[in-house]
Parts: sequence; C-alpha cells; structure tokens
Amino acid sequence: MLDIKELSLEELKERFNAAGIRPFHAEQVFAWIYRKMAGTFREMSDLPAPLREYLSSDFLIYSAVIARRLVSGDGTVKLLFELADGNMIESVLIPAERRMTGCISVQAGCGLRCAFCASGALGLERNLSCGEILEQVCRLQKEAGGRLTHLVFMGTGEPFNNYDNLIKAVRIINSKESFHIGARRITISTSGILPGIARLAGERLQVELSVSLHAADNEVRSRLMPVNEIYPLAQLLAACRVYSRNTGRQVTFEYILIKGINSSLPTAVKLCRMLKGMGCKVNLIPLNPLPSMEWRPPSAAETAVFSSFLRKQGIQATVRQPRGRDIEAACGQLRLQYAQNRQVERCVKSQ
Ligand code: SAH
Repeated sequence: MLDIKELSLEELKERFNAAGIRPFHAEQVFAWIYRKMAGTFREMSDLPAPLREYLSSDFLIYSAVIARRLVSGDGTVKLLFELADGNMIESVLIPAERRMTGCISVQAGCGLRCAFCASGALGLERNLSCGEILEQVCRLQKEAGGRLTHLVFMGTGEPFNNYDNLIKAVRIINSKESFHIGARRITISTSGILPGIARLAGERLQVELSVSLHAADNEVRSRLMPVNEIYPLAQLLAACRVYSRNTGRQVTFEYILIKGINSSLPTAVKLCRMLKGMGCKVNLIPLNPLPSMEWRPPSAAETAVFSSFLRKQGIQATVRQPRGRDIEAACGQLRLQYAQNRQVERCVKSQ
C-alpha cells in the first residue's frame, strides 16, 4: 500500500481523476490528514463511503510507529519512530512562548561524521521519503495539540543530500491545503552542500537558510566537519553571498562554540573578518557535550565576550539555549541508539 503522504495535492488529484473520483475530494483528504490530523480514512466523515473504502484499501496515512515518546522537564518532547523497514528516526517538539517548533529529520542516520555530533556516529542508512518527512510533522502537530508555528530541518541527516524529497515536503507543508506553515518560518540547515544552496536559490521559496559554519578557518573546520574537504570555506561563503544576492534573503550561520577550539576572542576577530559585508546572522551554540567526547563548551563569560564582539562589529549574533537535554533531544544528541538493540517497546500502535 502506498503512503498517501508521498503525493502532492496535484498528484492525488491526478490519481483521483484517473480512478473516476472527483478531484475536489483530494482537497478534503488533504485537510483531514494535515489540518485535522486524521489517522484513518474511516473518520473522514464528509467523504462518500465508497471513496473511504477505496482509500482504506489502497493507501496508508501513517507508515511509521511511534516507538518511544520522551518528555523533558522543560516541555520538549522527543518522538522516536520506527519506520516500515525497521529504521529508527527522531523528531523533537520544542514549545516556547508564542512558538511551537518542530525539529525534523531528513535521513535515517547521517553520513557527514561531524566530530561534535552524535547523529553521524552510526553512518547513513538511507534518505527519508517525502511521506516520512511529512509524517514527523503530522505526529508532532498531533502531539502539540495545536498548530506548529515553526519548523527546523535540524534533526538527523543532511537536507541537501535528500534534496528532492525535502523540497517536495516543504512545498506541501507550506501550502494552504496542508499545514500552511509560512516559508519564512521554515528553516533548512545545511552543513554546506554547495549544489543544494545553489538549487534552493532557484526554487523561489522564501524559506530560511542556515549554514553550519563552526569555524573561521579551513583547518579547524575540516577537523570538525569532514565535508569541508569537499566544499571548503571560501567556496561556501561565495555560495552564500550568491544565495543572498539572488534571493534577497539573509543567511544564518550556526556556530558551535567549543572551548579551546573555536571560542576565543582572536577567533571571533577572524570570523568577523570572514563575514564582513555579508549581511548575515550568527547563531552561537554552546557545545552540547556528548558523553563520548572530551570537548566542552566555553564558560558563560567567554561566550558573552565572543557574542558581544560580533555585535560590536555589526553582526547580529544570538546565543542558543539548549532544550531537551535530559531526554537526549538537544542539538547533536539525536541518534539511533534504539536501533542497535531492536528492543522496541511500542507505546503507540500505528493506525
Ligand atoms: N546536516 C545539517 C542539519 C543538521 S542540523 C547541518 O549540518 O546543518 C544540526 C545542528 O545541530 C547544526 O547546527 C549542528 O551544528 C548542531 N549540532 C550538532 N551537534 C551538536 C552539539 N554536540 N552541540 C551543539 N550543537 C550541535
């Protein structure tokens, strides 16, 4: 059976048309799945009964099972999904004042092997389908009990290594028949895959682009992020400049602060020189130290010196507060730990 979330509204209409079903029913189905969070076709009460039957026999709404649900002391919720093929992925719901943010994974595992991140530890399994990306949003929205206001593609995986499925999902999420989350409230975070940055500029989507920078020179960046060997800093920054020029949109740079590696004042000076004239934002993220690593975040005082230097140089800099640490939902902590033992305790059955 096909996961109905693999289809855009147009594609569903075409299928309906070919099956002799009036296309406007596709809009009703979309509203049930993405706005009313229906988990079965049976509950779609305004559809003709034969159509409900046809849909139930040919399509699935949810293809994954929620294997674990963890709630943090700060209200952050992490959902661990078991996909149809047994792969595990995670998504996070981050409630804040006037915001309800979903953090979405785009791959099962990750192939980037960044030195500070747990997601890459087990390597890449596979790309997620459009339906699997959307499923996370559906389930998080259900969990939120109301509309999600923001989405960040900052879970496991590299969005631009799964470009087509990502963009298809983003267009659906953005559409008024579906979640209708404004493009400006959707952030795509990349480790700096240049072809993806260039392609995104051509999409005419007003999404936010974040680039994981983490260093002010190639030596440190390559040490932290092996992908820098393929797409080094000068080319990455040039691509970001082109992106900003072509889209009229600012890029946000994510910068993890690691004590003794990239958090000193001389590094801040270097970073400012590098970003001069770019019209960008910098999001500073004190390292979330993983048990397996020796690195630590800098002190609050050192972080403040770094961020205020950037601001004095006219660069918008913010410091990100960690959320969901106690449930291993914070930055860089998402990993497929349960995949190893396979002892999945099913607390929610799929529909
Ligand atoms: N592959 C994409 C999307 C993943 S986003 C990318 O690299 O941008 C993951 C975000 O979490 C990135 O900003 C990354 O830099 C950050 N992150 C990963 N591990 C972290 C850690 N240990 N502490 C703090 N931030 C971390």
